[in-house]
Amino acid sequence: MSPRAARIPRSALVVGAGMTGLATAWFLQEAGVEVTVVDRRHVAAGASWGNAGWLSPALAVPLPEPGALRLGLRTLLSPASPLYIPPRADPRLARFLLSFSRNCTPRRWRVAMSALAPLNRQALAAYDELARGGVAEPTRPSDPCLIAFTTVAARAPFVHELEAVRASGQSVDYDLLSGAEARTQEPALSERTGAAVRLHGQRFLNPGAYAGALADAVRERGGKVVEGLRVTRVQDHGSEVSVAGSDGTDLRADVAVLANGAWLNRLAAPFGVRAAVQSGRGYSFTLPSDGLPAGPTYFAAQRVVCTPLGERVRVAGMMEFTAPDRPADPRRVQAVIEAARPMLPGADFSRRTDEWAGPRPCTADGLPLVGPTRSPRVYVCGGHGMWGIALGPLSGRLLAESIVTGQSAAELTPLHPLR
Ligand SMILES: Cc1cc2nc3c(=O)[nH]c(=O)nc-3n(C[C@H](O)[C@H](O)[C@H](O)COP(=O)(O)OP(=O)(O)OC[C@H]3O[C@@H](n4cnc5c(N)ncnc54)[C@H](O)[C@@H]3O)c2cc1C
Repeated sequence: MSPRAARIPRSALVVGAGMTGLATAWFLQEAGVEVTVVDRRHVAAGASWGNAGWLSPALAVPLPEPGALRLGLRTLLSPASPLYIPPRADPRLARFLLSFSRNCTPRRWRVAMSALAPLNRQALAAYDELARGGVAEPTRPSDPCLIAFTTVAARAPFVHELEAVRASGQSVDYDLLSGAEARTQEPALSERTGAAVRLHGQRFLNPGAYAGALADAVRERGGKVVEGLRVTRVQDHGSEVSVAGSDGTDLRADVAVLANGAWLNRLAAPFGVRAAVQSGRGYSFTLPSDGLPAGPTYFAAQRVVCTPLGERVRVAGMMEFTAPDRPADPRRVQAVIEAARPMLPGADFSRRTDEWAGPRPCTADGLPLVGPTRSPRVYVCGGHGMWGIALGPLSGRLLAESIVTGQSAAELTPLHPLR
């Protein structure tokens, strides 16, 4: 056997059945690797179910930005603000916030953006590959894809950011609309909409349905998806890895991939991963579509996003830095409603169902963690923050390729989990 053939893994255990874990498993299968995906609860039990489902590379920018810090300091402790930090002593969160705030400079933003741009350019192509390979749930063109503002002045920083994304080498195609033009496109918008941006070339999907279809595809290709098994420990035994479940299960394979979202740190720390993954929890619910936008619409100042899902529309928002398993806070749902109501006067928020909270896996520098660890048999795919649905399939593809070839794509260098 050649040295290269000797190192190609035949089997992989993937911890976490969210978008990133399932995509990594699917792309490993493309290379003939036998996969088992394990989830402590079920498919899409973390952030990959009730999110907004936007596949919008034009908006996938680093979370730590100079504006985030200003907003954060002003509104940090108000439960009604779009960025909320519950006031309790938490040294881990304090360290994360300190590190996050150090990244909120224009220079650091540009550095992180230059790492995201090559990923954003390829993000939708990874979805096309999944579709060609038989994943049954479609992605849909976002047309129109509107970003609505109350005034032209309120829109200016957003347009400035789109231009900065362009400057990073990513093509971004958009038109500027007046309030009246935006309301013609989307009659559900209120008179308060005084300006808008219409983005081109973006898509969206139903995230829960998509994750389900991706899990089905993994199973149909001979993979296993084991639900209800909480992994307590991953070990490298030299020639194989073991994954221990809380019920005493012991699974073995050639390699392991840690893709367990906002819960990543505990399993990854023994393999040298020091970068904190902090849960930035968001909330969503759905409403019947009357009085709501027919296309994907984002109220950027309010940080509320609407996504059509068949007969209903999902309304999502908020960023609450808190532990992923803390009980959901009903005041946060109310805050989403209060932010959205003036912009959507025809919506009946009392008819909401499917209330949901899910933890975005956020990193302090705004970049995902994708690649090897100190162990040559244990890899990480996570930390995608606001953009794990848009970028998850591409990360899964790049990681799977690097696992089977031993060669890491240049795009993965800035995402190294040991940085
Ligand atoms: C309100 C909201 C809106 C969003 N909108 C968008 C959007 O429009 N577009 C976009 O691209 N992204 C969006 N996101 C972000 C996106 O949802 C996340 O980045 C993405 O879902 C992360 O996927 P993941 O697979 O890394 O983690 P997760 O989906 O959280 O999956 C991790 C899985 O690991 C499992 N797990 C955890 N610990 C263990 C363990 N010990 N053993 C076994 N299993 C374990 C969990 O049960 C979970 O199923 C949004 C997020 C929120 C909250």
